[in-house]
Amino acid sequence: MRVLFVTSECYPLVKTGGLADVSAALPPALNGLGADARVLLPGYPAVLDGLEGKSTVRTLSGLPGGIGARLVAGRLPDGTPAYAIESAELFARPGNPYLAPSGESWADNHLRFAALGWVAAEFARPADDSQWRPEIIHGNDWQAGLMPAYVAFTGSQRPATVMTIHNIAYQGQFPAAYLAALHLPAHSYHMHGVEYYGGIGFLKAGLYYADRLTTVSPSYAREIQSTEHGCGLEGLLASRTDHLSGILNGVDYEIWDPAIDPHLVEPYDHTCLEAKAASKAALQAEFGLEVNPAAPLFAMVSRLNWHKGADLLPEVLPALFARGGQVVLLGTGDSGLENSLSALAAAHPRSAGVHIGYDEAQAHRIQAGADVLLVPSRAEPCGLTQLYAMRYGTLPLVRRTGGLEDSVIDATPAALTDGCATGFAFDEATALGLGWAIRRATDLYRAPERWRAMQLRAMTRDFGWAGSAREYLELYRGLVR
Ligand code: ADP
Repeated sequence: MRVLFVTSECYPLVKTGGLADVSAALPPALNGLGADARVLLPGYPAVLDGLEGKSTVRTLSGLPGGIGARLVAGRLPDGTPAYAIESAELFARPGNPYLAPSGESWADNHLRFAALGWVAAEFARPADDSQWRPEIIHGNDWQAGLMPAYVAFTGSQRPATVMTIHNIAYQGQFPAAYLAALHLPAHSYHMHGVEYYGGIGFLKAGLYYADRLTTVSPSYAREIQSTEHGCGLEGLLASRTDHLSGILNGVDYEIWDPAIDPHLVEPYDHTCLEAKAASKAALQAEFGLEVNPAAPLFAMVSRLNWHKGADLLPEVLPALFARGGQVVLLGTGDSGLENSLSALAAAHPRSAGVHIGYDEAQAHRIQAGADVLLVPSRAEPCGLTQLYAMRYGTLPLVRRTGGLEDSVIDATPAALTDGCATGFAFDEATALGLGWAIRRATDLYRAPERWRAMQLRAMTRDFGWAGSAREYLELYRGLVR
């Protein structure tokens, strides 16, 4: 099965969120099952620098906006075959892939990411027979949203297309005046086409033209067909419900496993869980908290915004501190939230530590050192941090939504008795709802045997990519048949 995986970020070369982790893990997992999956990325400086064994495959002219580019082939650091679109005009900019240093989106993002879709579609019309031709082109998020449209316009002998939604809140909406520059035919500017609320919707286009739609958990697949979670796309998605499914993301256990994690002071796994205590002590010291093994240590590693429920924390945490609990937070996001969380840490220096920033190594140390990982998201397509936490014996405390609901088994009395509980879940996205769940977790923390049983259960659950990759392969096979 030849698959072109089209994505705007891929760990470790460029990452702003979970999409980068998926892009790094799913293609090699597919290849592990015998597929020939290759990745297509924009040629940001970090991508061109990071691709090994680069060679030019072909010169491309007439991209959207009339821009020229070169298609470069190479390998990702793990050996997965990859292509990059080399165009100084579009991508030779350091820093965040989507935002200018001002924090605003790049003014030409419509051209930059139309190029991604356009070049992906070029694989459907190879210059000659010697060139690799995918059977499936798999686009991800709005940045790849025009790919299924461009492929659909190439004619009948085309590869099948799949579009995956990693987060429906980001849709790539641009003015209708760009239609011609984007090489979109006039007839496509229609409700049954690329038109979306009076503009051009990249994600909308992808969801309209792709042969199959997926998202990253079964619950989110259901939720996005509702007004509450569909962000305006619920009608289209509901009309395509038979073509929409949810496949839970996996974890790359080469990167997220406390037994081999180079960032930890001492490795551990479910057979030597006592050694986790060293990570906890180190984390408390790193954040200037009281080094106390008995204090339940909560943590959050997240973008800090309303969707992630980070606004609930300042109201809830003082009660936790009053009962001897602690918290460490790592994240960036809304400046108001960054400020209020920093103020909280300043007011409770021995109980709360906040690092406003992005720090991959520290994220690992937090997963290892914490007792509970907070994920109070209002919406969460899949969520990765709760999956990592489980492998580290750090019990996730989540709001019951999307992939959080699909991956964490709440410590209800029945689940505890059955031995299947792996964390804590709450429904109401309010300080009361979160506070009550934190209370339940701290109470259970005082029952070490039960706690340990939950940790062992969480650590031995398998959220590896092999299972998810098998589901994608099955879906591809259905399309190629
Ligand atoms: P989303 O993609 O919505 O941001 P996910 O839970 O799917 O949320 O993925 C978030 C990823 O980004 C995880 O790998 C998490 O560890 C990482 N991450 C988030 N914030 C930070 C940060 N401040 N520093 C380091 N890693 C972070």
